[in-house]
Amino acid sequence: MPTDFHADERDWTTVAAGLARSIGSSPRFIASNLEALDTLDKLPALRELVEELHHLDMFHLRKIDEALIGLSTDLYDDPFFWETLDDILTEHLSPTRPNPLLPTPASITRKIRGVIRMLEKIEETEDTAGMEDAENPDEPEGVDDAEESRASNSYRSHTDADGSVTTEFRLDALTYASVEKAVRTYATEHGCSFARALTALLLEKIQVQVVLDVYLAHDVDDAPGFLQPVGWLDRECTERAVEMAAKVRDMAEAAEAEVAGYRPNPAIRAYLEGRDGTCRWPGCNRPAVYSQKDHRINHRDGGPTAAANMVCLCQHHHNRKSDGQVHYALDAHTGDVIWLFADGRWVVDEAEGPLAPKQRRWVQTLSQRRARRHERARAKAEARRREQSRKGPRPGPAGQHPPRMIREEQDDAPPF
Ligand SMILES: [Zn+2]
Repeated sequence: MPTDFHADERDWTTVAAGLARSIGSSPRFIASNLEALDTLDKLPALRELVEELHHLDMFHLRKIDEALIGLSTDLYDDPFFWETLDDILTEHLSPTRPNPLLPTPASITRKIRGVIRMLEKIEETEDTAGMEDAENPDEPEGVDDAEESRASNSYRSHTDADGSVTTEFRLDALTYASVEKAVRTYATEHGCSFARALTALLLEKIQVQVVLDVYLAHDVDDAPGFLQPVGWLDRECTERAVEMAAKVRDMAEAAEAEVAGYRPNPAIRAYLEGRDGTCRWPGCNRPAVYSQKDHRINHRDGGPTAAANMVCLCQHHHNRKSDGQVHYALDAHTGDVIWLFADGRWVVDEAEGPLAPKQRRWVQTLSQRRARRHERARAKAEARRREQSRKGPRPGPAGQHPPRMIREEQDDAPPF
């Protein structure tokens, strides 16, 4: 990493070409590493941690950088965002116990996307509110048009070489989760592929009932919803989910509940999935919602069917556990699982779902930060509005401009 480089030029072409000569990696690969280091410089506390522990390799650092691709300019240029991200990642990657499991790149990406989803869109909300206050009814419609055209551009298909057609469409997280659940339910019931299930649901007169569990902190103002498998929801999806909710369950009760039989009831299941987030096998990222519920102490040996004795394991890892080569202990208070392997090694896996104590603290902190940012955005919008009424009509809302994509294009230029 050159120390005299002016990072605001955002063009690694020459540097990467020079390094490629001496280390023999492709300029593109070198540039992606330099970008990752550049991003790390924006996160000083994390950088200090990495330099102390050396626990993140370039692969992890590149994944952090990649999770930020497509970030809106609003957030990219906002020191508050970087400060928040720095704190959250530093906490996520600081070991608090001996033998912790290093968070996987997927888990780091989920963390980063969570921060982005919670902090994004506030500026837009403020802009719209400002427009209404300014009694300019044309502009909110302009925003709707932009939404509409984004939606209509999001359905695409292309013909493949063998004559079949691949299609792709973009949905908001809540709609996607409903579609995914319907497709999965049908595919499981009929033992068919997801593509076949989707086709049947569209073309045949079939109805499936879809139940989604959305987790929402009741003691945090304006808390974001959490929905598997998509993760943290933005504000708009959270509001819709709350409106749609047909049933509310208290997860504190479910945490303590116990049933007599082998199968957990829906409340205990929901608690387990909400606490664990994913399969708890070290490093497995399969969403808990698709997992099996394992009794740590077998039911037939007197192990209760209750959250304190159960964890989520995907089918593959449930089999591995059942063959007796590995054991685990569960800290019911923190949700941590301590895995004990046959060769004497052990590792601690932290619960990552929205109900895990660490995650609940995270939501609280982030919500307070969001409130502060909201306050600041409001003041800024107010100042802009005053400026505007002095100058005349305002330009349209700033588009989402992904600064990192531009850099990537620049990297495609020939190195010499
Ligand atoms: Zn697994």
